[in-house]
Amino acid sequence: MKEKYRIEREKRLRADGSTQYRDLSGVYEDFDRDPYVEPGFTRPAVTEKIDVLIVGGGFGGLLAGARLRQAGVTSLRIIEKGGDFGGTWYWNRYPGAACDVESYIYLPLLEETGYMPTEKYAKAPEIFAHCQRIARQFDLYKGAMFQTLVQTMDWNEDTQRWNVTTDRGDKLAARFVITAGGILHKAKLPGIPGVETFKGHSFHTSRWDYAYTGGGPYGGLNKLADKRVGIIGTGATAVQAIPHLGASARQLYVFQRTPSGIGLRNNQPTDPEWVKTLKPGWQQERIRNFTAIVSGQQMDVDLVRDGWTYIFQDTDSCRAKTAEEAAELRQLADFRKMEEIRARVDAIVKDPVTAEALKPYYYQMCKRPCFHDEYLDTFNRPNVKLVDTEGQGVERITPTGVVVNGKEYEVDCLIYASGFEVTGDYTRRLGFDIRGRGGKSLRESWAHGAATLHGMHGRGYPNLLMLSGTQSGWAINFVHILDEQSQHAAYIIERCLKSGIETIEPSERAQQQWWEVILGSLQKGGVSFGGSECTPGYYNNEGAKADPNDVRNAPYGGGTLGFIDILRDWRKGDDLAGLEVTRGTASPTP
Ligand code: NDP
Repeated sequence: MKEKYRIEREKRLRADGSTQYRDLSGVYEDFDRDPYVEPGFTRPAVTEKIDVLIVGGGFGGLLAGARLRQAGVTSLRIIEKGGDFGGTWYWNRYPGAACDVESYIYLPLLEETGYMPTEKYAKAPEIFAHCQRIARQFDLYKGAMFQTLVQTMDWNEDTQRWNVTTDRGDKLAARFVITAGGILHKAKLPGIPGVETFKGHSFHTSRWDYAYTGGGPYGGLNKLADKRVGIIGTGATAVQAIPHLGASARQLYVFQRTPSGIGLRNNQPTDPEWVKTLKPGWQQERIRNFTAIVSGQQMDVDLVRDGWTYIFQDTDSCRAKTAEEAAELRQLADFRKMEEIRARVDAIVKDPVTAEALKPYYYQMCKRPCFHDEYLDTFNRPNVKLVDTEGQGVERITPTGVVVNGKEYEVDCLIYASGFEVTGDYTRRLGFDIRGRGGKSLRESWAHGAATLHGMHGRGYPNLLMLSGTQSGWAINFVHILDEQSQHAAYIIERCLKSGIETIEPSERAQQQWWEVILGSLQKGGVSFGGSECTPGYYNNEGAKADPNDVRNAPYGGGTLGFIDILRDWRKGDDLAGLEVTRGTASPTP
């Protein structure tokens, strides 16, 4: 099986690695248009002094805003590209979209807002509504600047503030800036020749065109009844959308490069009797329990009990006497679980050739595991055809269709489920540069990798707090880490505002020490995603050789809870250790 995995990986390796993709700019700019707002929005430009500016209105920005409000911060603005809060849940409205980390641990602030999701895996509209609920409850609509992009961000030594300009002519002078730009927010297209020549209708899944397909996020795509539809990609997004496309389109072609592993979903409505048993503090307990299990810790109870925790259940390797034996037992358990995934395909998909093509041959965490109860069955429909590209990808797009292996499949509509740009390069993810002391560009300072304290502060960039995975925490339930980072940022800002601290900035020594902590944690190894034996994907930079800068940009490797404990212990010290502080006359902006 190891040899089979190796062969499958080799088939997919390509010289252009992650540069094979195209971003939604230039000739592809139209793909990036926001279909959820009325065109032509205008508003007067804002010129203002504020205490805190948050860039990004997804879960990161919402949590930072909520935690700042709890800390008593009133002078606050949030800049967001979309037309509302929600981030990924604003953009991803494709049919079937739902969370696949359990909603009771994924939707933040459930106890604070008094909300209980209706299902174990809530659907996108419910999650988007929860984002709006958080924004309302914590008064974040006040000061929100939607459909707005930051253009420049410069530290002003005279005022000791960040000067921020936007594409709507705003000029903000903020004492503190929190960047919460997300990790998967820049949609990408595959670099297939001919994308721009297609004459039918096409769009990216994160800009779903319901005006064309009919229906909505719950399905019922009635306008596709007479259409031939193609979808490129079979990742977590496609897996959720394909059952609805299969149910509605006259003909559906699914163009596959690498199959996803599809585990059991087992969604259920929320049991009101269970809700009655919950005691205050239940959500944090459940969140921590899940994170511990998926970080490889053995726990007495598994509160969530789903496909994710099943992947990480490991009853064998704890019996091992040596590290080598433990590694071998872990690998055997991985083979066994992937064999179950493959057996599930055989049990559901009737055509043996299609079934074989849908089987993933790689380790469990090489690609994002998927969980779905209708995806595989969709391939039993007579109107659905899997076009397997044997790991090579689509050859060409023509004005009328898609070419694979020299054969053209004619389609009226072509949907790109081709994912989002993922890069360890933080400044590229941000989309704008930050100029700190002396006009020093963050892009240039970090050209050979990041230098931070806790992944949140950078020397030369006072009063900037970054929420990201770079040299910071990482979690399967990413909202867990965002909340911890938000609480951390709110604690620091509250302290500064209340005690007359004008600037904070990490010392050189603190950054060096943090880097040593990161290195040490990586050397110990833990649960890893997308190793070098993995099939290419965004988990392992498309299988390319590791760039030495990537190590500098890596997250803390000592586990999610380990990172959270570092932040919590630091706050307990209550001395802003490692941060150089200047005091001034500044008082909170009225
Ligand atoms: P992915 O990057 O996971 O998938 C992109 C797909 O496009 C892959 O199947 C890829 O194949 C395929 N592809 C790329 N280029 C070509 C080509 N030239 N020809 C044919 N196929 C091609 O994007 P997704 O949007 O599916 O998911 C991104 C992430 O978003 C997930 O990993 C997950 O973290 C998150 N997500 C979470 C969800 C949830 O919680 N419910 C739902 C959806 C997404 P290959 O695999 O060979 O590269």
